[in-house]
Amino acid sequence: MRPFAYQRATDAPSAIQALAAAASANDALTQASVQPLAGGTTLIDLMKLDVIRPTTVVDINPLAASWSNVNIDGDNLRLGALARMSDVAARPEIQQNYPVIADALKLAASPQLRNMASLGGNVLQRTRCTYFRDVSYANCNKRTPGSGCAALEGFNRTHAVLGTSNQCIATYAGDLAQALIALDATIEITGRAGVRSLPFSELHKPPGDTPEIETVLSPGELISAFAIPGRWPRSLYLKVRDRQSYEFALASAAIALDVQDGTINDARIALGGVATVPWRAREAEALLKGQKLDDALAGRAAEAAFADAKAGKHNAFKIALGKRVISRALQQTAAMEI
Ligand SMILES: Cc1cc2nc3c(=O)[nH]c(=O)nc-3n(C[C@H](O)[C@H](O)[C@H](O)COP(=O)(O)OP(=O)(O)OC[C@H]3O[C@@H](n4cnc5c(N)ncnc54)[C@H](O)[C@@H]3O)c2cc1C
Ligand code: SF4
Repeated sequence: MRPFAYQRATDAPSAIQALAAAASANDALTQASVQPLAGGTTLIDLMKLDVIRPTTVVDINPLAASWSNVNIDGDNLRLGALARMSDVAARPEIQQNYPVIADALKLAASPQLRNMASLGGNVLQRTRCTYFRDVSYANCNKRTPGSGCAALEGFNRTHAVLGTSNQCIATYAGDLAQALIALDATIEITGRAGVRSLPFSELHKPPGDTPEIETVLSPGELISAFAIPGRWPRSLYLKVRDRQSYEFALASAAIALDVQDGTINDARIALGGVATVPWRAREAEALLKGQKLDDALAGRAAEAAFADAKAGKHNAFKIALGKRVISRALQQTAAMEI
């Protein structure tokens, strides 16, 4: 691992100040400048692999006293960005009112990782594309802009079929983000100018021509919390992976339904493992509203979700798998006893 400066923030202003100072000394928050450190389960990994090369790491864990709370106020849930994945997944009020969040957290990574990892770090984790994580491959536009994309003609079994570009087809790897995007979460961002809010759906940027730019966060900004409107007891996260022990999704679906007398009033569908960013399947949702769910309708919704999918040489199976995941997840959600 390369040498780097370690700074421990004492509070939010000192974290923002340290990040901003290091960023301005390096022109921008690039892979060679400054990184906040939460649980470290992505950051330290990628530093050891020499993929991320910060000159300064700012430890934000001392902010946990104020940034790790979990509150339900009326019908609104607020999750602090430094809350640990395992702590949130274990909360009875989350399991009861937001099972899609509890499921997405429990099915992610391993118990040891979930004990360390924060919610903020989870949604900002990087892709698992082998060519990105192994610096012996020269061609990765995300790691080295303009160098090409080894995955386009390489082994792309785990890569994305939705939201791709001819510059990058890397899959967004996380699970929690699908639950958050499905529930119309907003994120609270703390930076030099104070606190601002943003729909979670606007946080991640599809690769387009600049796959190295993954989010809309500005230099020196931190995610401080997530806010989720409403309660969604009829919701779940279904994840299919190569093995049941800790593994990333090949295809997953976060589903939330509001059903009255068998009719779907509101439907939320988000997909993981198949897209370059957390993926909301709005065309599929539109088909479900005002309808009663049956096999045929679930199938049509699944078809709509993948209508624009584009497969590479090795990942066409994800389209068929993703459709089956949506159909099964819809049926399981509709059958939940609330
Ligand atoms: C073997 C293995 C298996 C895994 N399997 C899964 C899986 O199945 N599903 C899944 O979802 N994840 C999986 N993960 C990923 C894991 O969940 C993430 O590494 C973890 O959630 C990241 O959280 P962290 O707090 O450790 O983040 P860190 O590593 O500390 O940070 C990650 C990134 O976010 C930045 N950051 C952190 N907090 C903030 C903040 N508040 N504001 C702004 N920037 C911030 C950091 O600078 C860094 O760039 C796996 C990881 C491993 C190693
Ligand atoms: S898919 Fe993206 S991350 Fe993977 S090699 Fe291509 S540019 Fe790099």
